[in-house]
Amino acid sequence: MPQENEHVKCLIIGSGPAGYTAAIYAARADLKPVLYTGIVPGGQLTQTTEVENFPGYPDGVQGPQMMEDFRKQAERFGTDIRFGYVTSVNFSEDVHKVVIDGEHAITADTVIIATGATAKWLGLESEQKYNGFGVSACAVCDGFFFRGQDVAIVGAGDTAAEEATYLAKLANKVHMLVRRDEFRASKAMQHRVLNTPNIEIHYNTETKEIVGDGQNLTGVLIYNNQTLAERVLPVTGFFVAIGHKPNTELFQGILDMDINGYLITQPDSTRTNIEGVFACGDVQDHIYRQAVTAAGTGCMAALEAERYLAAKEYSMM
Ligand code: NDP
Repeated sequence: MPQENEHVKCLIIGSGPAGYTAAIYAARADLKPVLYTGIVPGGQLTQTTEVENFPGYPDGVQGPQMMEDFRKQAERFGTDIRFGYVTSVNFSEDVHKVVIDGEHAITADTVIIATGATAKWLGLESEQKYNGFGVSACAVCDGFFFRGQDVAIVGAGDTAAEEATYLAKLANKVHMLVRRDEFRASKAMQHRVLNTPNIEIHYNTETKEIVGDGQNLTGVLIYNNQTLAERVLPVTGFFVAIGHKPNTELFQGILDMDINGYLITQPDSTRTNIEGVFACGDVQDHIYRQAVTAAGTGCMAALEAERYLAAKEYSMM
């Protein structure tokens, strides 16, 4: 529980692979980290089913179980894990101030931001119904489950293009649903898609509904937005690749961000533009977005926080 006028050496915001890994390293370095989980403890992985590509789990693991393992490991070394949502920050002074749930203010020498990103969804009820049962927002995570099958992917940006070509190596056929008559993806990525024989592109096409048997997805109801003609594409997998939204509203006007709102960190580092504030995981990575890369940058953030504190203490001696 937060105490009045609480001050900590290291405050971690977020409880996905990046936040928990930062906590494991910070706790073992005796920084006595306090971690606030946010509204979804465990982050995006708690909304997936099986994870097969995280090293150390030879038989795969359910996403929520894996995040439970991360949490236990962070706790084992003394991380103070608290359920709470950061509602405002003030990084304008040497000691950083963070307000939790609009009530409790905590000051911290270092802050590690691991608030992640949220996949954008089409917003269909049926999409959420079959999420994890044929619907996915991550081809690299779930494509393997659709080997030799027919799948559809929606989106026309670099992510969709990259994921479509990834899926094409595994699936029998990939239907790519593009809502306009052109791609948004870079020319190089488009070229790859157009030259992959088992990707069929459906231009001016939108998704009306996900079709299923109550358990698993069996197809998608699509329509041409010019002719309004509808039909069901028989597929067993449906990948949504229409972009992600980094969870950075809190830091607007405070931390440097790119045009899509991702936090900018210095090259080969998790340092932000504010001394003592570090960012790791999907909140600063729009390219890889994997649990293992998030964990890697979480480790970097804790090591950098530790070095920052050591240098600060040394300069005050
Ligand atoms: P983008 O915002 O670039 O693209 C989103 C795509 O989804 C657009 O084609 C958009 O269509 C489509 N879309 C959005 N909403 C809907 C909807 N409701 N129905 C159907 N389609 C929809 O997101 P990305 O994730 O692709 O890329 C984000 C950033 O990351 C970009 O800057 C990209 O270049 C970068 N990136 C770089 C990579 C790399 O360098 N290897 C890999 C992946 C991403 P429309 O075009 O009609 O708006």
